[in-house]
Amino acid sequence: MNLKEELDIDRNHLWHPYTSTIDPLPVYPVKNANGVRIYLEDGTELIDGMSSWWACIHGYNVPELNEAAEKQLKEMSHVMFGGMTHKPAVELAEQLLEILPKGLDQIFYADSGSVAVEVALKMAIQYQHAKGEKQRFRFATIRRGYHGDTWHAMSVCDPVTGMHSLFSGALPTQHFIPSPSCKYNEEWDESCLDPLKDLIRQYGNELAALILEPIVQGAGGMYFYHPNFLKEAQKLCHQNGIVLIFDEIATGFGRTGRLWGGSHAEVIPDIMTIGKAITGGYMTLSASITTKEIADTICSGEAGCFMHGPTFMGNPMACAIATASIKLLRSTPWQKRVKAIEEQLKEELAPAASLDCVKEVRALGAIGVIETKTPVDMAKMQQAFVREGIWIRPFNCNCYIMPPYIINSDDLSKLTHGLIKVIKETF
Ligand code: PMP
Repeated sequence: MNLKEELDIDRNHLWHPYTSTIDPLPVYPVKNANGVRIYLEDGTELIDGMSSWWACIHGYNVPELNEAAEKQLKEMSHVMFGGMTHKPAVELAEQLLEILPKGLDQIFYADSGSVAVEVALKMAIQYQHAKGEKQRFRFATIRRGYHGDTWHAMSVCDPVTGMHSLFSGALPTQHFIPSPSCKYNEEWDESCLDPLKDLIRQYGNELAALILEPIVQGAGGMYFYHPNFLKEAQKLCHQNGIVLIFDEIATGFGRTGRLWGGSHAEVIPDIMTIGKAITGGYMTLSASITTKEIADTICSGEAGCFMHGPTFMGNPMACAIATASIKLLRSTPWQKRVKAIEEQLKEELAPAASLDCVKEVRALGAIGVIETKTPVDMAKMQQAFVREGIWIRPFNCNCYIMPPYIINSDDLSKLTHGLIKVIKETF
């Protein structure tokens, strides 16, 4: 099959993320990828500014991860997790227990980020149920959040920026409060807790859990808020019998400069979800992790167990690669690298702040954002980025860069300069 035929089949039969079948945005055929470079079929070379949506923290075609995949493939690619266990699952648990916040030691493997969120929400409900708090079946969250595309995950996404407003009548209704008004680097202002206090005063008794992306809100707005919000939210949750869930699917594994988003506030949630970078972007895998107290309470309840068990739970290939990815992360000076990326992003994106079309420029860890005043023309911009030899995929009013941690400063400069050039050209 030649490239044109492949693209025809793609255009006529394949659905891409958030894409129309009537008027699909162009897609760029990729031949392969190596390090921080993605190579298109036509020979174009692109520097990756996306880490394939937060996942490929070590870049592409990583020898250590390739080796883990090849070795595991020869043993077994999959075996059911019901009634069986295996070294890859156990070794991954061992690695995770060394890096997870203390007390979070009951690990439930799942398939994708959205499923991990569903699992976390179910854990909170089953926990409350087992404690006799059956009226606690709603969730609270903050606006601008994003937690995935499955049903209950959608219900806790921002109804507007979370891309799911169409479903609002059909979805369970949750409680939303504004995103903390106090930004990451601003002075802490107690009043940004008022909406949460009001919500708890009014609806505290029906809340099973509060779910938050700690510090960095990703797909719902690329917004960075003050760590004290997490500390105070934890106190309020614990005083009022509400479970605190941190969705670390995007923030986990060092992206914000600390291993976990919650580490900025030294807050350990009751339940935490991880995914994306867990396998270095090689395979889909996620986990929902909780405390022994919550796990045992769930299992002492009416059901006698936690009611979830995906077919591909603990997939050996994914677990083996995840173990290799975590070992690789821990053996590299990732903190230094992420810090250097942050400093360069701050310096090189700063000039964009003076552009008329730009609302704000911000950077934290290996994430740099240029927020524009009006939404971007994604197709037009994407074409311009490819012409510049860089891969960046903006959405709404957010043009952002989150490269693999291994990127060198010359390549990062190509991303920052290319991004600003394209914004100037397209707005
Ligand atoms: N939670 C957060 C914070 C995310 O950023 C995402 C994905 N963008 C998800 C959940 C859903 O993960 P997945 O796409 O793997 O289902």
